[in-house]
Amino acid sequence: MNKEQSQITIIGAGVSGLAAAITLKNAGYKTQLLEQSSSVGGRVKTTLQDGLKLDHGFQVLLDAYPAAQEFLNLEALNLTTFSPASVVFIDGKKHEIGDAQRDFKFAWKTLIAGIGSLGDKWKVFTLSRKLKEKSLTDIFNTPEITTLQYLQDYGFSEKMIQRFFKPFYTGIFLETELQTSSRMFEFVFKMFSIGNATIPAAGIQAIPQQMAAQLHGQIKLNTSVQEVVGDTIHLSNGETIQSDYTIIATPAEGLIPNLPQIEKQWHSVQILYFDTDEHGFDQPIIGLIAGENCLSNNFHFLNDVFENHAKVISVSVVAKHQLTDKKLEERVRQELEEQAHIKAGDLIKSMEIKKALPTFESVQYAMTPTETQLTQNIFLAGDQLSNGSLNAAMLNGKAAAQAVISNIENGIFV
Ligand SMILES: Cc1cc2nc3c(=O)[nH]c(=O)nc-3n(C[C@H](O)[C@H](O)[C@H](O)COP(=O)(O)OP(=O)(O)OC[C@H]3O[C@@H](n4cnc5c(N)ncnc54)[C@H](O)[C@@H]3O)c2cc1C
Repeated sequence: MNKEQSQITIIGAGVSGLAAAITLKNAGYKTQLLEQSSSVGGRVKTTLQDGLKLDHGFQVLLDAYPAAQEFLNLEALNLTTFSPASVVFIDGKKHEIGDAQRDFKFAWKTLIAGIGSLGDKWKVFTLSRKLKEKSLTDIFNTPEITTLQYLQDYGFSEKMIQRFFKPFYTGIFLETELQTSSRMFEFVFKMFSIGNATIPAAGIQAIPQQMAAQLHGQIKLNTSVQEVVGDTIHLSNGETIQSDYTIIATPAEGLIPNLPQIEKQWHSVQILYFDTDEHGFDQPIIGLIAGENCLSNNFHFLNDVFENHAKVISVSVVAKHQLTDKKLEERVRQELEEQAHIKAGDLIKSMEIKKALPTFESVQYAMTPTETQLTQNIFLAGDQLSNGSLNAAMLNGKAAAQAVISNIENGIFV
């Protein structure tokens, strides 16, 4: 069997499946991507509604991700860069904390911000210096503790943790107790220290759309797979497809009959988009709400991020609650007003993303090609194998593709 003869199928056109297809294409292989929904991108989605760009969750591309450099044309995405800072609101008071090494205007504001002690701010500086030097291999080989324990061990005060690290990393890890692995904390902190948080000018879905543009004619949308048995893929519509090599770029438990049905746990998030008369911050910046018992965690203004965009505020709610939609809307509106003196107008859209980030006992950087091979015919990809990030999703897609290529080129034919 050679390049032309191998039937290679990828299930799932999220960024992982797309990275797998691009890797195979670059090596001269043609693939078929099957995607159950009507668009590419999986969890990386933007709803365009009345001229508004409503991303499904506050999601940023850290441009220092090694996979972003490899799989994306960052320039063509026309990225908006977030300021390396946050505006923290506590009981109506505003504090700014930023990376003075990158933007000196934050030096004084950060020093006087009522967020933590001078010692805390010095420690942020030393941690940033340390993690810039620490390699990704070392980060992912360091024994894991929780992020909370890590911050306490590093000597940060309770005030600094509660007022800055907790809301900031809750917005990233999508869990409120900082129980996420310290490896993930170090990785994300490093990416923020050496690069920027960005959003494409057309919204976050521009990322998978750019990747899909390289795969003309290879993606079949609205095609749901029911089961994969050996070299046969059973579609939900009753059809079957023969496939010598299948990459499953989504959790495979429900798709492979004999795989242990361990139900994956997920972190969820709710996003509320409100129209507003507020001007915004005049720059793309993350707002944090650090008042006690607030459900609203982080927010930003879409008009700060997207050019000529209507005035819209996006608020993320991560904490668990029992409120009805209406009560939650009222609560978020009230918190914005009390904590940040921001008046939210009508609710434009509310989104609940139940399966936003996979949870992990232990996080890894990415799979090696060998680790992705499940059986002679079946390979696995997706972020859920390593850590919940665009970086891991893309790298695992690439690893699965490399494993397929190596099987074919080393003559391990099925
Ligand atoms: C709210 C939110 C915020 C996030 N924030 C960030 C962030 O700031 N930075 C960051 O790096 N990452 C972030 N992430 C994580 C990032 O989005 C994911 O790591 C990444 O998108 C996972 O890609 P994937 O291809 O592995 O999985 P998915 O995107 O889930 O793709 C799987 C695809 O498979 C398809 N599929 C599933 N079953 C079938 C089937 N039976 N047949 C056919 N197709 C099927 C699905 O429809 C989907 O398109 C965030 C995610 C969310 C939801």
